Amino acid sequence: MAVPGRRTPQGAPAVLAETELFSVDAYVRDFEAVVDQVDREEGRVALRRTAFYPGGGGQPHDIGTLAWDGGQAQVSRVRRQDGRIWHWLDGDDLPDVGTEVDAELDWQRRHLTMRTHTALHILCGVIWADHGIPVTGGNMEPGSGRLDFPLPSMSAEFGRRVEARINEEIAAAHEILVEFVGREVADEDHALIRTAANLIPREIDPLRVIDIVGLDKQADGGTHVLSTAEVGKVTVTGTESKGKGNKRVRLLVT
Ligand SMILES: [Zn+2]
Repeated sequence: MAVPGRRTPQGAPAVLAETELFSVDAYVRDFEAVVDQVDREEGRVALRRTAFYPGGGGQPHDIGTLAWDGGQAQVSRVRRQDGRIWHWLDGDDLPDVGTEVDAELDWQRRHLTMRTHTALHILCGVIWADHGIPVTGGNMEPGSGRLDFPLPSMSAEFGRRVEARINEEIAAAHEILVEFVGREVADEDHALIRTAANLIPREIDPLRVIDIVGLDKQADGGTHVLSTAEVGKVTVTGTESKGKGNKRVRLLVT
């Protein structure tokens, strides 16, 4: 059983807490909202508040459903565009501006994505702890992901050892916190400096930080679980050399 971290982060800007529900509580799986804008040409709507993650930082967008008086539709795509989060709806039936909708995420997919995303942070933490090498890139789907590291070499044993280390950190049930950290504080935080938080545009203040306590800390907009124990089991499915000084690690979450 997972040891849960705090569900409500400290220092969350009120505007985010009221509009981008996923940024303060990754466990909101259904919510009510009012339609704020309709784009009939594109078949998409913007809501006054949403728990649908719009994609970004390697994490795919959510899918789910919207239902309203007299209609319902699948949300097939979500994306942040021109400062708004847009929800693309399947079919021609779009709710009007001002309509109240009941929204529901495809929670099985989202929770698997949260576990996968968290597993990739654990991989980062393990490679940093054991090799002192930072991640340079990556991507994920619900249930699988990959990260690249500028490792000089990789032995045949490497994948198996990394897998054992990841599962060790999962078993350790590290608490995972979402924090909003002012830039002046972030600038002094060595963990954030090594994960290149200083490269994020200065106008983003505070930074949203995901802290796997004792293992990994990164500025990050995505959704994660509350404890490493909630990740489940991780299998390293591949280690590949993508050229001199770039090694790729692939993993599966079950
Ligand atoms: Zn993350």
